Amino acid sequence: MIDQYGRTIDYMRISITDRCNLRCRYCMPEDIEKIPMKDILTYEEIGEISRAAVSLGIRKFKITGGEPLVRKDAAALVEKIHKIPGTEQVTLTTNGILLKKCLPELLAAGLDGVNISLDTLDAAQFETITGKNDLDQVLEGIEAAFQAGIPVKINTVLQRDVNADAWRQLIQFAKDRPIDVRFIEMMPIGFGRKFEPVYGEEIREKIRSLYPDLEEDPRVHGNGPAVYVRVPGWKGSIGFISAIHGKFCRDCNRIRLTSTGKLKPCLCYGENIDLLPLLRNPADKTARAAALKNAIEDAIRKKPEAHCFDLLSKVTEQKKMVEIGG
Ligand code: SAM
Ligand code: SF4
Repeated sequence: MIDQYGRTIDYMRISITDRCNLRCRYCMPEDIEKIPMKDILTYEEIGEISRAAVSLGIRKFKITGGEPLVRKDAAALVEKIHKIPGTEQVTLTTNGILLKKCLPELLAAGLDGVNISLDTLDAAQFETITGKNDLDQVLEGIEAAFQAGIPVKINTVLQRDVNADAWRQLIQFAKDRPIDVRFIEMMPIGFGRKFEPVYGEEIREKIRSLYPDLEEDPRVHGNGPAVYVRVPGWKGSIGFISAIHGKFCRDCNRIRLTSTGKLKPCLCYGENIDLLPLLRNPADKTARAAALKNAIEDAIRKKPEAHCFDLLSKVTEQKKMVEIGG
C-alpha cells in the first residue's frame, strides 16, 4: 500500500514476546515487569494479522522480540507466515544465544535470513552490556547461520562509556565473508534515553582513517534504512542506521506490531492502533479479517512524514524497546 507521502509500505516487524534471556542495559535491564501471557498475541492471531497485512501489500516480515527464540516454537510462526500466498520474505532478529539450537527448525520453516545483535567481541564488555556471560554462544550462532548459507547481518549499538571502540574488531566479520556489519545509533526509546549515542558519521570517519580507500556501496542490501560502505576486496559491507542524524524517513517502508497487538505507524510516537479487541471479537473469521484489514490500512494512512528523535520533547513513545522489538 502507498501511504499519504507516496511511500510503499511493504514491510512489517512483528514482536512475538517481551521476554528475553539477556538484560541489555539500554533495552531490558533487570527487574522489568513482564506482560501477562494472556495479553500476548497467539501465533494464530499473528497469522490472522499477517494475512490481512499481505492483502494490503506487505511482502516482507521480520520476527523480533524481546528475544523471539525464547518463545516456544518460533519456527512454527515463521512457517505460518511463509505459507501465506504473497509473502516474499520472513527473517528474524535475535541476540543469537539460542540460534544454533533453533536453526534446523527455522531453516525447515523457510527462514530467509537472520540479523544477529552483537555489540562487542570482548567478553567483559559483553557482560557489562548484556548482564550475561554468553558471548561464545552468540559466536556459535553466527557461525551456524553462516554455515547454513542464509544471509547474515550483524547489528551493533555502540555506547560511549563501554564499547565505543568495538567497531574495530566487529567490522572484521565483513572481511572474508559476505556478512554485513551495521551500526545502529542508540535511539531515545525506553532505557536508551539514558545513553549518549555514538553517531554513525563518527564511526565511519574512524573506519576511514584505518581504511582510507573506503568506498560507498550503493547496492540494496535489505529492507531497511542502512547506508553502506565497503573496504575494497572485502566480501561484506559496513552499514550505518543513523536514526538521529541521517533522517531516512523519506524511504520508510514499515509498520510495527507489538507483542500485545498494537500496530505502530512510527517508532518514535506513542500513537498506535490496538488490534487485540478486533482479534478477540467472536465475530466470524471473514468479518474479523475485514476489520483487521481496515485497521492496518488506518495505521498505514496515519504514518507521519518523519520521526522526531532529533527533538526529544516530541518523542511520545513511552514503551520500552523490548516491547516494540526495534
Ligand atoms: N532480542 C533481539 C535482538 O537483540 O536482536 C530482538 C529485539 S531487540 C529490541 C532488536 C534490536 O534493537 C537489537 O539490535 C538492539 O540492539 C536494538 N535496540 C534496543 N534498544 C535500542 C535503542 N534504545 N536504540 C537503538 N537500538 C536499540
Ligand atoms: Fe534482549 Fe535484544 Fe533487548 Fe538485548 S536488545 S535485552 S537481547 S531484546
